[in-house]
Amino acid sequence: MAVIAFKVRLYPNQKQISQMSRTFGSTRFVWNQMLAMQNERYKNNPQAKYQNNYAMNLMLKPLKAEYPWLKDVDSTALQATNDHLHDAFQRFFDPELENGHPKFKSKKDYAQSYTTKAVNQNIKVIDNHHLKLPKLGHVYFRAGRILNGKIKRVTVRINAQGQYYATILLESEKQAFKPKDKTNQVVGIDLGLDDLMILSNGQKVNMMHFDLEAKQQVRIWERKMARRRRNAQKEMAFDKHEKLLLPRTSLKQFPRYQQARHTVAKLKRQVSERRYDRLQKLTTQLVQNYDVIVVEKLNTQGMLKNRHLARAISNAGWGKLVTMLKYKCDWYGKQLIFVDPKNTSRICHQCGQKNHQFDSLNQHEWLAVREWDCPTCGTHLNRDINASQNILHRGLAQIEKEKVLV
Ligand SMILES: [Zn+2]
Repeated sequence: MAVIAFKVRLYPNQKQISQMSRTFGSTRFVWNQMLAMQNERYKNNPQAKYQNNYAMNLMLKPLKAEYPWLKDVDSTALQATNDHLHDAFQRFFDPELENGHPKFKSKKDYAQSYTTKAVNQNIKVIDNHHLKLPKLGHVYFRAGRILNGKIKRVTVRINAQGQYYATILLESEKQAFKPKDKTNQVVGIDLGLDDLMILSNGQKVNMMHFDLEAKQQVRIWERKMARRRRNAQKEMAFDKHEKLLLPRTSLKQFPRYQQARHTVAKLKRQVSERRYDRLQKLTTQLVQNYDVIVVEKLNTQGMLKNRHLARAISNAGWGKLVTMLKYKCDWYGKQLIFVDPKNTSRICHQCGQKNHQFDSLNQHEWLAVREWDCPTCGTHLNRDINASQNILHRGLAQIEKEKVLV
């Protein structure tokens, strides 16, 4: 049994569009109400028990009685909102994650979404181009291929450019993918900043500098967008001051500002699509070539605190890369192993001894050391390749240990 997600572009009609925006509004309202309730409870009594998603679902009934328009939208979407808020609180409570407190949602955000849960066949793929969604009926979509399976939930989304998408999550009986042939090859991967990855066989994969290429364009258009927004705000203030009969009151009435906003959103989307595409290709190749892949356990939350590293990390998309590797290894019957990255650069992969020559260096100086000779065995070591070989050794040792335990 595999859980698979498909993203499809939706082409809703006018009636469906207005129903969708009602649902975006209602789920946002429920999110903000529930969040305010949790905050208020805590403020009044810090010992008060946090209300989980089931408790919040029970509160939907009185909320609907007070605000009857909530009954006009898909009720599973309101429950899914409580689930999401609950998840956000769980991440916030988890000391390891160091996530921030859940935030209120604003209707000013151009991108909006809601999730609808499957109950009694209310969601169905009708044919290659029609998806049945609660309260919306048959929505036209375009996509390559959607596998048959039991739909769990669908997230409907409008992006900053005003395009609609649905992410369909389904459980498939069939194994969606044939296991890849065994290659009897193993690899350790060091995730780096100068290079995206260094493999234990010495191969390097370059950093993705898409955002540097596109950065110039994005910056030009962001400046235009800011200037046009300022001008629009001035004109709105002028209309108000002059007491015009029909004053302009919304940024939506300024097409040139909207055009700049769309361009910025488009450029940013292009960067992320290209990045995603590259990661897809890289991870497929790795899963094809190796039976066992060893990577370090990531602690991205901790690292993001270091502001200099943060940009490089978000560019590299390590987290995404590891997630892709994880599900592809599952799909194709390969093994992904996580190891503790501690000291993987300082220990010699030949003799296993830690090099204490660098103990006095600070983080910055230490990062600048690229090559050295091991003081114990004399092996010439390259920082990154040494690390990836240590990662591989640790992974293989872990497999051995598990075999002994079994
Ligand atoms: Zn050595």
